[in-house]
Amino acid sequence: MASINIGGENAGDAFYRYKMPRLKARIEGRGNGIKTNVENNVDIAKALERPPECAWGHVLKYFGCELGAQTKFERESGNSIVNGAHDPKRLAELLEGFIKKYVQCYSCNNPETVVKVKKENISLKCKACGAVSDVDPRLKLNTFILKNPPDAKLSKAEKKVKKMESERLKGLEGFKEEKKEKKEKKEKKEKKVKKKEGEAPTAESSQAAAEADSSGGSEDEEEVVWMTDTSEAAMAARAAEQLSSATAALVTQGNVEAEREEERRRKKKEEEARKRAEEEEEARKKEVEDLARKKEAEDLARKKEAEEEELAA
Ligand SMILES: [Zn+2]
Repeated sequence: MASINIGGENAGDAFYRYKMPRLKARIEGRGNGIKTNVENNVDIAKALERPPECAWGHVLKYFGCELGAQTKFERESGNSIVNGAHDPKRLAELLEGFIKKYVQCYSCNNPETVVKVKKENISLKCKACGAVSDVDPRLKLNTFILKNPPDAKLSKAEKKVKKMESERLKGLEGFKEEKKEKKEKKEKKEKKVKKKEGEAPTAESSQAAAEADSSGGSEDEEEVVWMTDTSEAAMAARAAEQLSSATAALVTQGNVEAEREEERRRKKKEEEARKRAEEEEEARKKEVEDLARKKEAEDLARKKEAEEEELAA
């Protein structure tokens, strides 16, 4: 595919190292449905090194803002649509404008910059010279960038994974807290501390320690706590790893462990809830019985009263 230098002023420089594909656009449909498909929008945005939301989202939106047209980016197919028929040459010119305003360092023209969003201000931090260029706050695309900052790198699915992961870890922490308390109580009672030396703590043994409710006597508490921390850190690392690989590779040992522990927690909660419900049911029954007894007594009293009245009459 034909590449061109990034930044029009570099067009004649045969040795310029920053390149991007030449914009390719195709007009599709007709009548009211006529639209322009910027076929290599994704590749262009990648070449401009923008994080996903900023990248194809912002470049495409820029066309929309400048042309007063609706745009649509289809994540699955990568289709980048601008409503209406637009000349590829005009789009290439607009892209040049985007690069000037939102990609190149205002100081040294280097295209390697990072978009920073702080409150209402957008700036470009240059990786080459370190200059921070303030983007003109009146530019039309700014509103969109402020609403879709470049930090929003994670897709919905990735966010979901992250949320699930953090909930799991939260659950796990609570679970461990309980275990630790129990353990501490037990330790106090037994006042027995043995140290097992030469046994390298592994994730497995830490899991076993967390699992085995009754094994408290055989292990030193300090060791247990330490192993718990290790496993926690390992799990956090695993979670981070997963997120950076940014896919649905969900089933790792960390997850399995977390899931297992959460399952146990859930069961315990259910058990408690069931007990509570039973107690409540018991209380309710008693109340009903009490009420019935009270009513009976009242009825009896009323009956007696009526009889007495009858007698008096
Ligand atoms: Zn610079």
